Amino acid sequence: MKDIEILSGAFEKIRAYIQENQNDSQPVVKFKSPEELKEVFDFKVGENGVSENEFLELLDKYLEYSVRTGNKQFLNQLYSGFNFPAFIGEVFSVLANTSMYTYEVAPVATVIETEMISLMNSYAGYSDGDGIFVSGGSNANLIAMFSARNRIFPDSRFEGYDRNNKLVAFVNEQAHYSFETAANILGIGAKNVIKVKADKNGKLISSELEKEIAKAISRGEKPFFAVATCATTLLGAYDPIEEMAEICKKHNIWLHADGSFGGSLILSDKNRYLMKGIEQTDSFAWNPHKLMNIPLICSALLVKKRGTLQHNITDINTDYIFHDIDAIEDLGKKSIQCGRKVDAVKLWFAWKYFGLEGYQKRIDNLIDMAVYAENIVNENPQLELLSERNSFAVCFRYIPKNESDLNKFNLELRESLRKSGKSIVNYGYIGKTLAIRLITANGELQKSDIDLFFANLLFEVEKLENAIFNA
Ligand SMILES: *Cc1c(COP(=O)(O)O)cnc(C)c1O
Repeated sequence: MKDIEILSGAFEKIRAYIQENQNDSQPVVKFKSPEELKEVFDFKVGENGVSENEFLELLDKYLEYSVRTGNKQFLNQLYSGFNFPAFIGEVFSVLANTSMYTYEVAPVATVIETEMISLMNSYAGYSDGDGIFVSGGSNANLIAMFSARNRIFPDSRFEGYDRNNKLVAFVNEQAHYSFETAANILGIGAKNVIKVKADKNGKLISSELEKEIAKAISRGEKPFFAVATCATTLLGAYDPIEEMAEICKKHNIWLHADGSFGGSLILSDKNRYLMKGIEQTDSFAWNPHKLMNIPLICSALLVKKRGTLQHNITDINTDYIFHDIDAIEDLGKKSIQCGRKVDAVKLWFAWKYFGLEGYQKRIDNLIDMAVYAENIVNENPQLELLSERNSFAVCFRYIPKNESDLNKFNLELRESLRKSGKSIVNYGYIGKTLAIRLITANGELQKSDIDLFFANLLFEVEKLENAIFNA
């Protein structure tokens, strides 16, 4: 009885929350410090359980003080938005609560994951490819490096990696930090991930890659893995895949595309040229939980060569789980996880709902919105664009009238905007220059949302400038 009562109360709250998301009637965050949060909540678990009403109240408060990432003023992370069909898909997959290892316990989800991998491979141009859903882009990058290590030194799966072999990897100097973690985990060592210089827009310079490879070889090291980042985290830059593929082929280096952020651009006929040559890579990390707005986590690693993933797994004695009785491959044999969420299911629901063309339009819209934001920056003499826009990221700052420390002013601006709860945007450093970074990741964004963001920003500017003037 208690559960069913809570369920109807919870349904009502979900409905209200979704409605509020759709009309952005609530602030993106009701900011509280950790201390203040502890005053609002009783976080401690008590001896006795709570009543129905108390439970429902906790649900309310959880939603009230969490950041509303579905609000269109959430422009902070590389993911944003509320994807309705994917949300429903997530709820249903949790409801059925199955695990991705065998067809036996996940018949529908197994066929769905296979279908999603095959669809994604068709975009990547991997005609005999394979892939697996993993627990995030960082882990996709890890498995890619792991596959590359196992290709070049298959024995390291059993013997461990022999450090005398001095494996080295190459990434854009602005690549994601997960490659260093991967090298750390694999025993290769984080310092053997060599950072290759990028141009002023953040794109890896392929002649620099060539130089770094030559230097490594002359030091007696063994280049084995290189990464083309498909949209860098700060500037949204796409590395030159075709040029890198040629270099990698020459040196027998595994080329991985880290499309954790911008891989979804491949869906767009208009913009796919930024990933030209993707079919020549050996693996491709693609995170639908970022630009396809699937609820976290939804992330796939695609590999060009079938069999790659099985080869990674040292399955010496797994008869107790994999019986191979259902005339379909058990996907667990390709994963370093055992229990695994059926993350492909929510993606499938969303893709079915929007259709191939619908999703393409959503991605095109994201680029259009970034162009629109870039134009606003260019048209306002007090706003300065700090780097040419590559894709979904617009990096800029405000030039105040009466403050000469621009980093300090823009950091304060970003903080006061965040604490106002009206919009959230992130920042990073281009060299020593603090840049406010606006990300267009929410597929529902419209021009009016971008206008509102700049209005909110300029409102905070005025408050800050007045405070400085009066001080
Ligand atoms: C977000 C991101 C990652 C990490 O992906 P997670 O799913 O957050 O682990 C890796 N590389 C790039 C370029 C990213 O933007």
